[in-house]
Amino acid sequence: MSSDPEIRIVRSDRRRRTITARWIEEGKIMEVLAPAAATDAELAPIIENLKGRMLRHRERVETADDGALACRAAELNRQYFGGRLVWSEIRYVANQQHRYGSCTPATRTIRISHRLAAMPAWVRDYVIVHELAHLQEGNHGPRFWRLVNRYPKTERARGYLICLGLEAEGDEAGEMDVE
Ligand SMILES: [Zn+2]
Repeated sequence: MSSDPEIRIVRSDRRRRTITARWIEEGKIMEVLAPAAATDAELAPIIENLKGRMLRHRERVETADDGALACRAAELNRQYFGGRLVWSEIRYVANQQHRYGSCTPATRTIRISHRLAAMPAWVRDYVIVHELAHLQEGNHGPRFWRLVNRYPKTERARGYLICLGLEAEGDEAGEMDVE
């Protein structure tokens, strides 16, 4: 699918030990930020490892599959809501950088950040359950959380998202498209 990316190494005196990589130029170049003292030979195996991880991550995001998402939502509806929830559409969107999902109860549409496609399945399941629960409870009150907590990994998944800085903003009522 993706051809081998060009690697650009940027060394910095301010970096002591950490090596990080990011995509630039629309993913054509992988830029590696490294400490000034790191030699090419030292960096080579680390870059190879980072490149593998970043390519796998990108592939999962690019192949985010709305059909698979809808199937999973139907399964979670059966498992945790007795199959009684009805929605018109659930799909991945790329424009939600700071929240993991949204639910618009008026139109019964659910949108999930494409970043979830690359996260562990149990985290994705939590977000789906969270948005499904909004079809029944528009706010984040106790009744809402009683529904969501039927999913046993809720607390763990929330902790995971907090670490990524997502749960804090989450889809709090102000940001949720409740109408
Ligand atoms: Zn919510």
